Amino acid sequence: MRELITLAKYPFLHDTRQYIKENGPSVDELLHNLPYERARIIGIERLDNAFKNRDVGNRSLVGDSDCIMEILSYPLARMVAVCIGDSYFKKRYALGEAYHIYKYLLNEPTSFLLVVAQELNVTVQYSFDKNIIKIFFKDYLRNAPTRYREWKIVNRGISGGFLTISHKDLARILLESLRERINEELLARECDQSVYNMFSSDIQRFQNMLVMQKKKFETAPVGKVSIEKLPPCMKDILSAIQSGENVPHMGRFSLVAFLSSLKLSSNEILKLFSSAPDYQEDKTRYQVEHITGTSSSTEYKCPGCEKMRTYGICPVDKMDDVCKKVRHPLSYYSDKWKQEKKKP
Ligand code: SF4
Repeated sequence: MRELITLAKYPFLHDTRQYIKENGPSVDELLHNLPYERARIIGIERLDNAFKNRDVGNRSLVGDSDCIMEILSYPLARMVAVCIGDSYFKKRYALGEAYHIYKYLLNEPTSFLLVVAQELNVTVQYSFDKNIIKIFFKDYLRNAPTRYREWKIVNRGISGGFLTISHKDLARILLESLRERINEELLARECDQSVYNMFSSDIQRFQNMLVMQKKKFETAPVGKVSIEKLPPCMKDILSAIQSGENVPHMGRFSLVAFLSSLKLSSNEILKLFSSAPDYQEDKTRYQVEHITGTSSSTEYKCPGCEKMRTYGICPVDKMDDVCKKVRHPLSYYSDKWKQEKKKP
């Protein structure tokens, strides 16, 4: 078994779960007994920090008691996140946990990253003597932020199905893999009534925060654009970017081209991307200005609905009556304005 401090820093590890199973309290004790009050407070702190700062935050891990409370706060935070019952919140929390781990991983030896990679089913080869890390291309494609030029597979070189990456790259890939894993686990779980009862006031507080944020998001215009009138596809892409998801290139491209057609400036569009975990202004600016035609001779157009469906970025389950009438996301937006003008 690993040291307590390692388990506290990496609460998603199999060893940490095993530690809780062998030494931890029952769920009932964890929820109600006085000795675990601190773990409960930290659990809520993890959620608050993830929601507000995209990182579950640092706490002192000096003694065993600090580490144990940190370890126990993780399953508590997850159980409460499930009861909040909002997919945006779950994504945000998953990112907060994964980003925190990423910062720790940067300072770990590569051998430790290999252990984490194995737990997350990311296939990596490591040559200790030459200090060369290689990753299987499918795992790379699934997790790397390939929207950035240096991450594109053509700029990496591939040999025998593997790509050579740095320690920092591997940590970034594990961030994405872990974010995805936590998010999937949260989506698959149901709220436990005893957790809801214990944390009902915090759960309601988070739910209110989400309602406020959604209102702010929908009523605050982006430049001159009304978010409320955006088609479901663009709302989805925007929300995914803002919750720190690794949005595929075509989604980002379509959103930028769509907003550019609505006369949003490159700076206004850039602001929307600034919540990504590894947002790099210069690189994002280059891409945005390329699509909008500021730095190239071509101004790219947003694809129509049919193409959006082919690319898998039209959320068919969210299509509404306006979607059924239009063939292009821009027509959706102008139809929404026309509908508003007709209102008495
Ligand atoms: S039907 Fe068109 S406008 Fe509606 S969500 Fe799909 S792509 Fe967007």
